Amino acid sequence: LPEQEAFDIEYWLLEEAKLQRMPRPKSLAGRVALVTGGAGGIGAATAERFLREGACVMLADIDAEALAATVENLSIRYGKDVLRGVPMNVTSEAQVGDAYAAMGVEFGGIDILVSNAGIASSAPVEETSLALWNRNMDILSTGYFLVSREAFRMMRVQGIGGSVVFVASKNGLAASPNASAYCTAKAAEIHLARCLALEGAEAGIRVNVVNPDAVLRGSKIWEGEWLDQRASTYGTDKQGLEEMYRQRSLLKRSVLPEDIAEGVYFFAADLSAKSTGNILNVDAGNVQAFTR
Ligand code: NAD
Repeated sequence: LPEQEAFDIEYWLLEEAKLQRMPRPKSLAGRVALVTGGAGGIGAATAERFLREGACVMLADIDAEALAATVENLSIRYGKDVLRGVPMNVTSEAQVGDAYAAMGVEFGGIDILVSNAGIASSAPVEETSLALWNRNMDILSTGYFLVSREAFRMMRVQGIGGSVVFVASKNGLAASPNASAYCTAKAAEIHLARCLALEGAEAGIRVNVVNPDAVLRGSKIWEGEWLDQRASTYGTDKQGLEEMYRQRSLLKRSVLPEDIAEGVYFFAADLSAKSTGNILNVDAGNVQAFTR
């Protein structure tokens, strides 16, 4: 390296180390969050973002084994006191109720709900069975309703407001080929968020949406049938798909779970105290949003 460049790098590394040692107030200290679909992908990245800001986090997921592994892994870095896991199927009214009861027992309430648990499963409309249609509606639309209804109940009793963040999808705004069930369920999530923003405002409950574009790395969705469906729709493999999404974005960058977590954090924290009923697309500037 040229001498000046090496000096600059060393200088910035020292600055960074100084910054890391410096105590700074944590923006979510004292806050309690429930993150659904927290066993991996976007949910786990969001949990980590919150833990870094001093929140206590309850992870909920249908996959009990993956959930336990993620809780264990994050506990090593952030301690056992600030993290819990609860197995929960978002389509089960009883299990959602039990998870909120656990929030009360373990952390004394809730300040932040991240409704994120989801699947991606679709087909051309002629091949979409009623079961496939209902699966999308149940997990995505109805699941988001059930977890936010309980958050509203708890937050109203607490009387200090709160923040609800939906991880929806850019497919809830823009149609995607051969994915009508998924796109429609995601559109319902977005409209539910708008309705809840209206209902919660007086009580100080904010409701906002983060729409990811395709996040291929670190997401289980892209290991299963969704990958096969997208690959056959676009006639390419996983790597080709990632490149296609990257090229389609204005910034020519792939979107990662951590990028989505940053958007969720913005809506969860007081940074966005004056935002409700809003949508943030984290999509590197997806061209579907533009006419050109
Ligand atoms: P992921 O599969 O890695 O994580 C989703 C989690 O939800 C999994 O741990 C899964 O076990 C859990 N889950 C599924 N069904 C559940 C149920 N009935 N009850 C409770 N938990 C359940 O995928 P991800 O990419 O992290 O997805 C998170 C959210 O982001 C989903 O709502 C998804 O639709 C949305 N999204 C993802 C992408 C992407 O490309 N990855 C793009 C747009 C939107």
